[in-house]
Amino acid sequence: MVVLEAAGVKKVYGERGNIHLALNSIDLQIAAGEFVGIMGPSGAGKSTLLNVLSTIDLPTGGYIKINGKNIMNLSEHELARFRREELGFIFQDFNLLDTLTAKENISLPLALSNISAKEIEKRLDRISKLLEIEKILNKYPYELSGGQQQRTAAARAIISNPSLIFADEPTGALDSKSAYNLLQTISLLNEKEDATILMVTHDAYAASFCKRVLFIKDGVIFTEIYKGEQSRKQFFQAIIDILATLGGGGHHDFI
Ligand code: ADP
Ligand code: MG
Repeated sequence: MVVLEAAGVKKVYGERGNIHLALNSIDLQIAAGEFVGIMGPSGAGKSTLLNVLSTIDLPTGGYIKINGKNIMNLSEHELARFRREELGFIFQDFNLLDTLTAKENISLPLALSNISAKEIEKRLDRISKLLEIEKILNKYPYELSGGQQQRTAAARAIISNPSLIFADEPTGALDSKSAYNLLQTISLLNEKEDATILMVTHDAYAASFCKRVLFIKDGVIFTEIYKGEQSRKQFFQAIIDILATLGGGGHHDFI
C-alpha cells in the first residue's frame, strides 16, 4: 500500500532575479512499513523536501498525496487535524514540554483528538513497555536522562498510530552512543510497530539503519539503494561509495 506519493514536486525560494530552485521535480513513493532515508550534502534540499512532504511548508509545484489525500487541498484547520492524526514527528531537540510529565507529553496528541482515556492508557502501556520507559512516565523532562527523553519523544511520535513518521537529522546533535540508541529506537518502531518512517540525514551511519536510501543533490534525486539482505555494515559501505561519487563526502567511521 502506498502511503506517500509525490510527483513533480518543486520548491522555489526567493523572488524574480534572485530565485533558488531548492527542489527540482521530485518524484517519490513510500509504501507502508518502509524506513526510508534521504541523504545528501548540506544545502542539497533535504530539509526543504521533508518540510513540503510533511505539510510544514507548501511546494511551488507538483502534488503530494498521503493515504491518497492531496495535502495541498487541505485548509489550515484540516491540516492541523491531519498532522495530529496522520503524522508523527521526531525533532532534533525532542521538543518535550517542560511543564508536562513524560506520560502527559506522550499522550498530548491523543488527548487533543477525542480518544477515550481507556484507549490512551492501552496504547501508552504498550508503547512504554516496548521503549522501556514505564518507570519514568510520571517524571518531568528535566528529571530524565538524554536517552529517556529520546525514547519519550519517540513514544509521542508513534502513539497516534500515524501513517508516516518524519525525522529531520534526529541524531544531528547527539554523541555517537546516543545516536546509536535513538536509531535503534526508530528501527524498533519500524519493525515492531510497522511504523512507516522517512528520515533525513547527512550522516551515512544514521542512513545505514534505513531499508532504503535516496540521495539528493541540488534538489534532484540522484539515485536510490535498498539494504535488502546486506548487513548494516555492508549497507553503510554502499552508502559511502555513493557519497564518494556524489562528491563532498568527508570522513566517516562505522560504529
Ligand atoms: P539541506 O537540509 O539539505 O541542508 P535545505 O533544504 O535546508 O538543505 O536547503 C536547500 C537550499 O535551499 C539551500 O541552498 C538553502 O540555502 C536554500 N533555502 C532553504 N531554506 C530557504 C529559505 N527559507 N529561503 C531561501 N532559501 C532557502
Ligand atoms: Mg537540513
